[in-house]
Parts: sequence; C-alpha cells; structure tokens
Amino acid sequence: MGRIDFLGTGNAFTPFGRLHALALIDQKIMIDTPPSLIPQLRKYGISTSKISHLLFTHWHADHTFGFPFFLLERKYISDTKNEQELNIYLRPGGKEFLTNLCNMGFPGSLENDIDKIANWNEIEETKLAGTDWEFERFPVCHTPETDPHGYELKHKSKFTVLHCGDSGPCEEIEKRTGNANVIILEMGMPDIGDFPYHYTPKDVKDFSQRNPDKMILVTHNYASSKNNLEGFPIPDLPENTHQLEDGDAITFDENGSVRLLKNSERK
Ligand SMILES: [Zn+2]
Ligand SMILES: [Zn+2]
Repeated sequence: MGRIDFLGTGNAFTPFGRLHALALIDQKIMIDTPPSLIPQLRKYGISTSKISHLLFTHWHADHTFGFPFFLLERKYISDTKNEQELNIYLRPGGKEFLTNLCNMGFPGSLENDIDKIANWNEIEETKLAGTDWEFERFPVCHTPETDPHGYELKHKSKFTVLHCGDSGPCEEIEKRTGNANVIILEMGMPDIGDFPYHYTPKDVKDFSQRNPDKMILVTHNYASSKNNLEGFPIPDLPENTHQLEDGDAITFDENGSVRLLKNSERK
C-alpha cells in the first residue's frame, strides 16, 4: 500500500559501496536532492518527471547540490513541455539558496524557469496533493547555519514515518518517536569523538534500546556497505535497527505491518 525506497544510503563522503542518502516515497515524494541524484534515479529506472513533491531537510551540499541537475534533466529531457507538476517544500531562504545554485551551475539555462517549473512552499505542514501523505516539519540538532529540519510523514492509513533529517539526538525526535511506526535516522559519524550534530552508532544504540518496539532504519551511513573491506566497517546495532544498503526499500500494508525489501530482492 505504501513504499519507501532508499536509492542511496551514504553520508557526504559517499563511503565505499554507497551513494548519497535520499528517500523516495511512493515514487512521487523525494526527500533531499543529493549530488548523485540523477545516477541513482537512472539506475532504478525512475524518471525525474514522476516526482511531484520535493522536501528539503537542510542546506548541506550532500542534500541539495543535485537540485540544478534535477531541474535541468526535467527541462531538457523528461518534461520538455513542463506538463508535470512539481511542488517544493523548504524553509524560508531556501528558494534563494537553490536559485543561486542553479544560476551558478548552469548560468543562463534555468534562471527563467525557477517559478515556471515549480511551486515553492515554505509551509510547515500540509497534505501532499495527489498522494496519500501529509507532513509536518520540525527542527532538529545539526549545523545551525544549514537550518536543519526533519519531517513527520503521515499516510492516510495513519502509518507514520519519522524522517529525522541530518541530526544528532534531540528532544524533538524523542518527542515524536512515540507516534511513529518507522524512524529513519541519519548516522553520519562513527564513534571517534563527540559529534552533537550527528547520530553515532552509540547514539543509535541508545535510541534503539529506549524504543525496542519501533522499527529503526539507519541511512546516511558513514560506514562502507557490506562486503566492502575498505573504509569504516558496519557497526553492530540492536536487532530492531536496520542499516540500509543502496536500493533497499520498505513496504507497509493497511494493518501497518512493514516489510524490508533488500536490494538483492528488487524486481
Ligand atoms: Zn549530510
Ligand atoms: Zn548535514
């Protein structure tokens, strides 16, 4: 009934075997536009023109720098007649940030299209038209200059996904966890120091143990993918916690029961 794809699952450094993290809900709603966005969509045969809602968590490059490529691809390849709707949800200042990015990256090619191609929304909560979802945005704990946020996404069946954005442990995430069926954590750093702006394996472990009945999905991983001998090894985490690999997905049904589809089982 509902599905979330994790085409990329790496942090800013694209660890061995991973591309940058993004989440794609029912093939229509995309959270963040990382630089490796287009290769990810190509690999799984997903057209940019089918994505009708873009939700941004914050302004770090690994979450935003794919945006000019996304617009360029739609304009010149997938939606040349500008027939497909695109709605963008972001914090105040985000439109200017992304517009500058487009003008820097492809000067002269996109500047007249910024308003034509997309509807820009700074609203903090809304229903996503043409989908079964609504969201509420909430602040998280990450580099303050990036205006970091997460999204509580509610399906019409009441199934709730908490996408915590790029963050360290914080009150707002703890508070919202009780409502959620699935919690997506971005585990950006290993246990090699004090990183209040990132979940580390130790933080994830503490979180998982406090919430043993929740399904926790770890993405934006600093560790290499499994079967890779280079880079950071995958840490051990509790059983309710799944460290996603590129191409993994979850599906859920009307009773709220969730299935994790490993990339190897993809059709
Ligand atoms: Zn990041
Ligand atoms: Zn970040």
